[in-house]
Amino acid sequence: MDPQTNPQAKESCDLIVHNGIVVAVDAADRIFSPGAIAIRDGRIIAVGRDAEVAQRFHAAERLDASGGVIHPGFIDAHIHVSQYTARSVITLMEGTTVTQGHWKGELRPNDEHASAKLAAVDYLKCGYTGFVDPGTIFEPDAVAAVADEIGIRIWLTDPYVADRGDILRAELGYLVSDSFLARWPRNLDEATKRLGGQLFRNARANGLVRAFIGIFGEDTDSPELNRAAFEMARQTGVRFQKHLGYVPATHLAHEQKLGDSIIRHLDKEGLLASHVTFIHMNLVRPDEVDTLARNQVGIVWCPYSQMQMLGRGGAEPRMAALHRAGTPVGIASDIPRTHNFDALGTLAMAASSAAGDPLTFKEILRALTIGAAATVGAEGEVGSLEPGKLADFVVRAATSSQGFGFDPPLENAVIGNSQSVRHVFVNGVARVRDGDVVQCDEGAVVAAAHASARALAARIGLTA
Ligand SMILES: [Zn+2]
Repeated sequence: MDPQTNPQAKESCDLIVHNGIVVAVDAADRIFSPGAIAIRDGRIIAVGRDAEVAQRFHAAERLDASGGVIHPGFIDAHIHVSQYTARSVITLMEGTTVTQGHWKGELRPNDEHASAKLAAVDYLKCGYTGFVDPGTIFEPDAVAAVADEIGIRIWLTDPYVADRGDILRAELGYLVSDSFLARWPRNLDEATKRLGGQLFRNARANGLVRAFIGIFGEDTDSPELNRAAFEMARQTGVRFQKHLGYVPATHLAHEQKLGDSIIRHLDKEGLLASHVTFIHMNLVRPDEVDTLARNQVGIVWCPYSQMQMLGRGGAEPRMAALHRAGTPVGIASDIPRTHNFDALGTLAMAASSAAGDPLTFKEILRALTIGAAATVGAEGEVGSLEPGKLADFVVRAATSSQGFGFDPPLENAVIGNSQSVRHVFVNGVARVRDGDVVQCDEGAVVAAAHASARALAARIGLTA
């Protein structure tokens, strides 16, 4: 029997989203228009032209994309999510002895939960389906709960793994306080005990939370701690992440102590590998591009922070060169104080243009999706629309002001516009429908975040 005339002969699936411009972000950068994707058990089972998908599959639910773009959900490759509610407190700190360190020192589990929940709602509404915190959540359970409550993917690791936290006080004093550093490990032994404490999360089938190995980095780790983390990640098959090369002057001072380029040194020591990701890398010399690419080291690019460093001098960003050399590059907000998540593509264009080598719109889209996934070791599961992958995707409105349909990467990944986000799916489940977050009362999430921030500001003496 011909499957076209007999629906019983078709394969069944849970959902088909059809009549869209499907931007797959696969290796061939394919776009299907009019295109469709078919979903079963939370995974993508087909991507292609409408007619082909309709011919092969019979769906329990069909969703008409009405000519809008369907793209993989964006992933924020790096955010200190517990500090999201601290967006506008810096001004209050001016002229006082209160620092961001005091804010972090005072964070309680309910504050971290409120902050992450607010971020999760904002992410979904901006077309993000996941985010990565690099080990700056004091109570990971408080943030992990947000994944199921809101329906977003979260990658996290152990809190503040470092054995030389005091170095931060000398170099980045505005980030620390006694109360904050009191929550850090005091020595190598205490730091090593924290390593791998979150990996149990990876055992949960279909779980939205995944863990990796992370240390704080930026010279706050001894060579012993760095090696222990590198080895544990290698042995357990997860990513190893650390901050590196944020402030160029600090990076240079570190190299002076070492008597060598940090990248060359790590290469000689065998500590560059395809399971390693460095966050920032605002100073990269031409020969280091090749070394990083040869070792397939992932790079998390925080474009706003990078522009700050371009202003301070000493920065040599080479994100376009790294991307083109085959290094996995993901884009990240770090702590989005001066912008919303949907401005990240614009900021990446601005930062790479300021550095003299702009990425193309397609490259920006890749760095927001498959590139970001690769920096946390999830490129086999998410980041593109391909059969076998988890169904994390966004359906945009065809009628949005920027959505001409001529250049989907520009219109959706660079020109930030959360207003064009119609539906967002994570694990094949609708988490945003017609612009509204499905699993929570947005007003209540915002109110809880504001209450947490007000109470915290009062506790550290910023407000009466
Ligand atoms: Zn950071």
